[in-house]
Amino acid sequence: MIFSKKLITLYFSLFLGLLSSVSPLASQETPRLEQASISFRIGHNIWSNDARFTQLLELFDKYPDATDEITFFTQGTHTPITDEELERRCVLLKQRIDEVHAHGYRAGINILCTMGHHPEDLPHSIGSEIPRAQTLDGRIAEGTLCPNNEIFRQRIRRIYTAMANANPDYIWVDDDVRTGHMLDSSGTPGSVCFCDNCMKILAQKFDVEIDRDYLTSHMSDPIVLAKIHEFTSDSYDKLFALIEETIRKISPDMPIGFMTGERYDEGYDFERWAKTLMGPNGDKEAYWRPGGGFYEQSYMNGLFGKSHEIGRQVSLLPPEVVVIQSEIENFPYQLLMKSANVTTLEAVSHIAAGCTGAAFNVLTNNNEPLDEYENMIAKVAERRPFFDLAVQKLGRNPNIGVFPLWEKTDGSYQNRTPVQALTSCFSETGVPIAYKFLPDQTNVVLLSRAYLSHKTPEEIKKVFQMGVYTDLDAVNLANDPATYALNDLTGMEYGGEIHVDGIEKIEEHPLNGSFAGRTRDLRQSFWREPIYSLKKTRPNVETLSSCVNYGGDQTAETIVGIFENPLGGRICVNGYYPWGNFYNYSKQSQIRAIIRWLSRDRLPGYVDSFAKINFWLRAPNADGSFAGVAINSNYDPVEKVAIMLKTDKDSIDVYDYSCQKTTVKASYSDEAGYRRFIVPEIKPWEPVLFVCE
Ligand SMILES: [Zn+2]
Repeated sequence: MIFSKKLITLYFSLFLGLLSSVSPLASQETPRLEQASISFRIGHNIWSNDARFTQLLELFDKYPDATDEITFFTQGTHTPITDEELERRCVLLKQRIDEVHAHGYRAGINILCTMGHHPEDLPHSIGSEIPRAQTLDGRIAEGTLCPNNEIFRQRIRRIYTAMANANPDYIWVDDDVRTGHMLDSSGTPGSVCFCDNCMKILAQKFDVEIDRDYLTSHMSDPIVLAKIHEFTSDSYDKLFALIEETIRKISPDMPIGFMTGERYDEGYDFERWAKTLMGPNGDKEAYWRPGGGFYEQSYMNGLFGKSHEIGRQVSLLPPEVVVIQSEIENFPYQLLMKSANVTTLEAVSHIAAGCTGAAFNVLTNNNEPLDEYENMIAKVAERRPFFDLAVQKLGRNPNIGVFPLWEKTDGSYQNRTPVQALTSCFSETGVPIAYKFLPDQTNVVLLSRAYLSHKTPEEIKKVFQMGVYTDLDAVNLANDPATYALNDLTGMEYGGEIHVDGIEKIEEHPLNGSFAGRTRDLRQSFWREPIYSLKKTRPNVETLSSCVNYGGDQTAETIVGIFENPLGGRICVNGYYPWGNFYNYSKQSQIRAIIRWLSRDRLPGYVDSFAKINFWLRAPNADGSFAGVAINSNYDPVEKVAIMLKTDKDSIDVYDYSCQKTTVKASYSDEAGYRRFIVPEIKPWEPVLFVCE
């Protein structure tokens, strides 16, 4: 273990060296990683207690594969402690870090409160003389410090010096560097701070005089919002530059990590912040920990929703960031909230979405023995070989497939793109999801009205030159004669609506195959969503589904239609519950056939079995090899899972969760270049890794 941990560090150093000579890095040249980067985050109540800490090390020594790194939280509460207290803790941390090193692990510090998350345990927290952040309505965020003043910056120098002097291998900045401070329940777009001093800084971005009242009344103005987000991004960047300078003055090569979430109102400037953390010459390491909220397992779709959030976050990172540990958090750490099986599957799912490791924050935060957590550590150790293998094969190659259109600037608009809703329903039909627009890979997009609402006609035209799956809401906007007038490209328009008893009937069409005549009834009397009849405005629009009532009478000729426009774009408009409930055999099959048609048979692959399988595919390496992950997201095993891949290779290697390899030969290939590989079985809530090399 000690050897391999050192090896991975050496490897990253070599990679950074390579980057300085070969830049920019093309996607095909992304690094091959030797193994996953796995960390456990340890609460203050455990490491500060001799008996608990000893038990922790005993447990990890019993399961040495469970982790490479032990990362110490500076505190368990979410408001900053005093500088003196933090310095005192760093003295003990230095000893703890030495002990961890002696056991063969890397060790680091995770400062929980650089600014502070929100009010908690105020009586034992930093004094009120340190300036606090303020919300837009003037309230004081008692648990959060304003980052834009010299008192704060002196504090940062002092506490980061103390942490660097404890001799950790790395330091993580937590996601308390964020907006909102858990005070703002109104849904108002946040900023890091609106105190008088910050308002002066923010005012420099405006040509008009501003105050909090002005901003409040202009919150629907995208330009105003963009300036607020830019101010927040600037504030982070300035803070990170100070942290970088402070830490690297003491330890010139120490990696610095930052934890993020999908928060559009921060500006989502990951590339900028990562480069700042990589130092003025860009030759130091930045680690990243993308996160999201999935704390318990009662709603399993939440796991994949978080993976998609993480996938979008990873897509914004520069290629130089190679240590990407997903946040795996079981807060508030009650063991039965999330089983060891779900906790470890979560790591796999986030690796599939783009991470190169995981940071497990799953042990107790209470001052109590760790006995009942042994199974959790044992399960991580048991699954570790799969994490390693997946990271080796997937590397940092971007995810490819259907791209649900989104941009990091979407937070500047009132109609924020509901990208999550668009993504989840397609991912679980076995259609691979891309998180980033890749010009040489992306040719099918999922399009919402919200995305279109802030685009120019020229930008929209470019969208409609690709394969577009969309709904009537978006098409209405594209057709709007006052703005875009793109009927030529959409081929369909509003043809009326049905509010009762509408049932989708799949019609005779080559894309529907043997499913013609089948129905999909989403029970309008329960879920009252209007059904839109589509009027064909161009002759070559084809009907895939019509609408009938409970008597079988047709109530709309076309509710799902497809069209090939004069620019070569292919469009599918769905007027019947377009963003979900693709769970029956006929609809799931139709959706996959539509996506493949939209792509002009350029979709790189998909699952072609009736199953709820989340599916990710990575861009190929320069030698043409590629890999992907399929997770059976249901409680029944799926046998003979058909995976269609666009490849010349005759066989793929399929690894089950125990890393047992099965070589699967193509059973069939079609004239468009797809080959069909039959995976014997995917067990319930288990992944397979497939590799084509
Ligand atoms: Zn402020």
